[in-house]
Formats: sequence, structure tokens, C-alpha cells
Amino acid sequence: AQAVVDEKDPTAVALSYVADTTKADGKKFPKHDKAQQCNGCALWQAKPTDALGNCALFAGKQVHAKGWCSAWAKKA
Ligand code: SF4
Repeated sequence: AQAVVDEKDPTAVALSYVADTTKADGKKFPKHDKAQQCNGCALWQAKPTDALGNCALFAGKQVHAKGWCSAWAKKA
């Protein structure tokens, strides 16, 4: 199985990725809403029901379905 992205990975830090969307920094990201999750993001590359999935921004690693980062964009 692929490695799971660590919040301390440089890319994760750069994007303020958190494995749990409820832990996102609401002060830094006032538009963040806990309804925003990786599995509802346009860059999520897995089924909505998968617990882990690939993301276009994290090559070769998986992110949490309930995660979030500052590049979150609503799936069309
Ligand atoms: Fe999650 Fe989307 Fe950020 Fe990828 S771009 S880590 S799927 S919120």
C-alpha cells in the first residue's frame, strides 16, 4: 500500500494539509468549513467512500478522506 501523507511533509506544510478537516486553522483560513473534505475535493482521486485516496497534489502518497488542505476546491 502507498504511504499516507504526514502533516509534517513539506508539501503538506506548504498546503496546510490536515488529516482531519475539523483541525484546519479557521483563523488562517476563514473560508474553511468542516464540510470541506478531501473526498469532496476536485483533486481527490478515489471513490467518495474510500477512507484514503490519492490527490493530484501529493504524488505517490495518500490523503485522508476527511482531510483538508488550502487547495480544496469543490468537486464539480
Ligand atoms: Fe485534499 Fe483536495 Fe487538498 Fe488534495 S487538494 S489534499 S484532495 S483538500
